[in-house]
Amino acid sequence: MRVVTLGTGSPLPDADRAGPATLICAAGRDLLFDCGRGVLMRAAAAMTGPLAFDTVFLTHLHSDHVTDFNDIVTMRWAMSPMPNPLRVVGPVGTQRFVDRTIEMLQDDIGYRVAHHDDLNWEPTCEVTEVSDGLVADDGNIRITAAPTDHGPVHPTVGYRIEADGKVVVIAGDTVPCDGLDRLCAGADVYVQTVIRRSMVEAIPAPRLQDIIGYHSSIQDAAATATRGGVGTLVMTHLIPPPWPSTESEWIAEAAEGFAGGIVLAHDMWEHEV
Ligand SMILES: [Zn+2]
Ligand SMILES: [Zn+2]
Repeated sequence: MRVVTLGTGSPLPDADRAGPATLICAAGRDLLFDCGRGVLMRAAAAMTGPLAFDTVFLTHLHSDHVTDFNDIVTMRWAMSPMPNPLRVVGPVGTQRFVDRTIEMLQDDIGYRVAHHDDLNWEPTCEVTEVSDGLVADDGNIRITAAPTDHGPVHPTVGYRIEADGKVVVIAGDTVPCDGLDRLCAGADVYVQTVIRRSMVEAIPAPRLQDIIGYHSSIQDAAATATRGGVGTLVMTHLIPPPWPSTESEWIAEAAEGFAGGIVLAHDMWEHEV
């Protein structure tokens, strides 16, 4: 199983970090988890793209995690020689989000259908809404979901992907909770969005202080990793973005609470599990 952190940024635009998105390649399938800003540029760098995505999984519908979903829908439709529905898995509310996205695209869909004689269908998605339990199991890849805690954003889910005898967890935005612990139990790799709490607390902007209560801090992620006995903690969606030469401080903070492998992800960080 191959894990690629396509985008490791936060909602704030960053010259070096695309929005949150993680690619997992397993059993010949490309699975995309969240689709933040710039996801298709990073996917191209990982030698995949909208036609190759087997399924797009959403952890929640916060804008930074779905910014470029419309780009995936449009490009999969416009590049395909035949109708090619996009499989989408996400929390309750995903169907409504997808319907609204396609509605938003109606002008562009109209232009292209009118212009191209061989394009006489509209983009479609096959949506599965999940909350807790088995999502898919084809004998090669087994995926389960569990509810996470990103309140007041609700519902949110994390995913556990099992393939080739290995386990990877994509947690999304959440504070520690029972659902997250169930996903992480015995995982080889645990990918967690994190904030560096001490840095966020030092910035006296009320809107920034608001984010502390619904994200895992580095310490929270380390504690979750320890409880789950995971092999490697991968920190992504970094808030605030690490200043140059401070990366080792993030690692050191995590190491105070977790004795396993620790990665501070950058865009296109790649790991064979
Ligand atoms: Zn969020
Ligand atoms: Zn986020």
